[in-house]
Amino acid sequence: TLTVAIIGRPNVGKSTLFNRLAGRRLAIVHDQPGVTRDRRFADGRLGDMALRIVDTAGLEEAPADALEGRMRQQTERALAEADVALMLIDARAGVTPLDEHFAQILRVSPTPVIVVANKCEGRAGQGGLMDAYGLGLGDPVPLSAEHGDGLALLYEALLPHEQALAARADAAPGGAGAEAPDPETAEMHDEAGDDGVSPLEARALANAEDDDADPDAPPAEADDTAPPRPLNLAIVGRPNTGKSTLVNRLLDEDRLLTGPEAGVTRDAIAIDWSHRGRPIRLVDTAGLRRKGRVVESLEKLSVADTLNAIRMAEVVVLVMDANMVMDKQDLSIARMVVEEGRALVLAVNKWDAAENRAAVLKRMRDRLETSLTQARGIRFVTLSALRGRNLDRLMDAALEAHEVWNRRVATGRLNRWLTGMTEAHPPPMGQHGRRVRLRYMTQAKARPPTFAVFCSRAEDLPDSYVRYLVNGLRETFGFEGVPVRLYLRKSR
Ligand code: GDP
Repeated sequence: TLTVAIIGRPNVGKSTLFNRLAGRRLAIVHDQPGVTRDRRFADGRLGDMALRIVDTAGLEEAPADALEGRMRQQTERALAEADVALMLIDARAGVTPLDEHFAQILRVSPTPVIVVANKCEGRAGQGGLMDAYGLGLGDPVPLSAEHGDGLALLYEALLPHEQALAARADAAPGGAGAEAPDPETAEMHDEAGDDGVSPLEARALANAEDDDADPDAPPAEADDTAPPRPLNLAIVGRPNTGKSTLVNRLLDEDRLLTGPEAGVTRDAIAIDWSHRGRPIRLVDTAGLRRKGRVVESLEKLSVADTLNAIRMAEVVVLVMDANMVMDKQDLSIARMVVEEGRALVLAVNKWDAAENRAAVLKRMRDRLETSLTQARGIRFVTLSALRGRNLDRLMDAALEAHEVWNRRVATGRLNRWLTGMTEAHPPPMGQHGRRVRLRYMTQAKARPPTFAVFCSRAEDLPDSYVRYLVNGLRETFGFEGVPVRLYLRKSR
């Protein structure tokens, strides 16, 4: 069982996370005179991972002047007991001096730390999430303890620590036996079932989200010993655009179907095949599973299914009918893909039956230019699923979009570029006649490419200037057809 300490200043949501991870019966420990609740322990779980959770609650009751010292004491004691520490910040509030104080303790502690940016529901936490990178404790995990969002990411972040623990237990004499759960704990785990994510869901999501913890790590493909990780692909679109035909064709063509789901069962959660030696995993075929009903053509597009498929995927292929390209529904799916930060490839299917090809192409270009500006340069491929035409091009476009989506630019290069951009077009004067200064920038993450620009007076920088930067990033570094995110952070 992995012991996890929850650490952070008051009010960041430690107890909420504690309760979310813990079973119902909590062991409250009184181990110091005059202190009501020093540390709480509970057994809990996340997916299939058994956890022992240590909470450092009760700080709120301490007198203010003693707070700092007591916090340090408790934090250190919890750290000593833990295999890994979760340091919570309130992403809506950003990083406060007190958070910095905790980070300082944690930076010198031998216990590994995962920064958790809590209260990340909706968009409100984005700024704080960016700030959290600056704590110097690795990539933060965005989470909403209250809403239960992001637990799959937390699971993914904890996984290596659990594996390390298991390895240590195996190495120790008789170690593995010590990890056996006692019956009482096991029962509690059942009760806690609804709070976590199912193991399948967690694994699938963890797989879809991937790790980009180490920007300098070579891509998986570079390592001959490890099989390359499959590209998670979703195929979405309105009913009758030819999704099922396309999937069958793709599997047929490449003839490299593997895994237990071989034979294209409609109920498959994932279908594996490969293209040019690259393993591809078709994720969440729920949208396709609905097939076979008589009312098929009348069936409405299920937004929930589509959104689910998008969230499981790295690259999304949106299949459209050439004779009705980019209608309202197509556009709203495309926007969903971009908003979810996935790479998008548009498949203009039934090209064999297109009535006016020139008109279709014109409409595609017009729509891409006017309606999907958040991801300029989106790839589109005309094809016929029925006749098996241009399927290679579609898959090539998917691999390409995936590469761009994963791309990272070194900080030095970025900042030389930023200097050039601000020299060519200085930011406009802000209020009070002072110029906004863009100090430096960094790529906070890939998948999708996300940048943080540190500047004075961020609020005075007009949106048009942000667009100038984003478009420049696309052109200079080739971030075409994937969402590019840019956040402004204040720095003095
Ligand atoms: P889904 O609902 O998106 O899975 O669509 P289906 O794959 O069931 O296809 C709907 C209809 O479009 C079927 O009658 C297919 O035969 C037809 N269809 C699919 N792809 C093509 C294509 O490339 N060209 C033509 N002409 N028809 C197609």
